[in-house]
Amino acid sequence: MSADMSTDTFPFSSPVQLPLFSIDRVLSALFAEQAGAMPPVLIVAPHPDDETLGCGGAIALLRERSYPVHVWVISDGTKSHPNSRRYPAAALRALRANETRTALTHLGVADTAITFWDLPDGAVPLPEQPEFALAVERCQAQLIDLAPSLILLPWRYDPHPDHRASWWLLQGAMAELDYSPRLLEYPIWDWDPAQRQPLPRGIQVWRLDISSVLARKVQAMTAYRSQITDLIDDDPSGFRLTPDMLAPFQQPWEMYLEASKAALAVDPAPVSDSGLVNLDSKSRDRSWLSLDYHLAF
Ligand SMILES: [Zn+2]
Repeated sequence: MSADMSTDTFPFSSPVQLPLFSIDRVLSALFAEQAGAMPPVLIVAPHPDDETLGCGGAIALLRERSYPVHVWVISDGTKSHPNSRRYPAAALRALRANETRTALTHLGVADTAITFWDLPDGAVPLPEQPEFALAVERCQAQLIDLAPSLILLPWRYDPHPDHRASWWLLQGAMAELDYSPRLLEYPIWDWDPAQRQPLPRGIQVWRLDISSVLARKVQAMTAYRSQITDLIDDDPSGFRLTPDMLAPFQQPWEMYLEASKAALAVDPAPVSDSGLVNLDSKSRDRSWLSLDYHLAF
């Protein structure tokens, strides 16, 4: 199957059919023209946990290869349990930030490489909103400072508005930069077909083989106790990542989309790994389309 998915087959419906690449293959395609020092990589997470769910495997693989990895957590995550008395907003913000630090420790990222933007959860500004310009300005200053060569950011059509807003924030900030980092987009909430946008032409979709670091990714996910356990049990409306919702992120691969330059399109032959066949056929049995979608945090 071609890596160009701009046809009638939507890639999130059947991700196991997508090409599978090793991290070294991806890095050599992305950074072919760069020699010398490891270029910095930026991970953009709309909420505390998206970096681990969407890119935890990539982060661990990059750190194993000594790439500097910085993580920006855009919103403060305080909407996951808005009615908890034990965890009012300030306490929840601190709790979730600590969970992020713990998760990223498992993936090899130091606290000093994490920036918490603390924008309001559920209200990360979109381009039409007045707060957008200020957020873009801030984002631009930090991008100039960090000068990442590669940015992993949320999929532009992710159904969650904070995820789309985070994509727009980066787009706005990069528009006036005099360099163009490579961009890879990662999906989080795209399994609901009713909310999907058509895939634009020219977008490449493929999977990254994370089998060698899957155990560490799963361990990092367990750091998010406020999201996956009864830790906060005094808010009946609180958000919970259920096992079904977590399942797509416990696969031995992660899905990425690339619109710019499409480095891997030059040679779409996937890396084969017979060890993945069984896991893939298991996940094929899982209904990717029947998972409940909750826009709850
Ligand atoms: Zn999120």
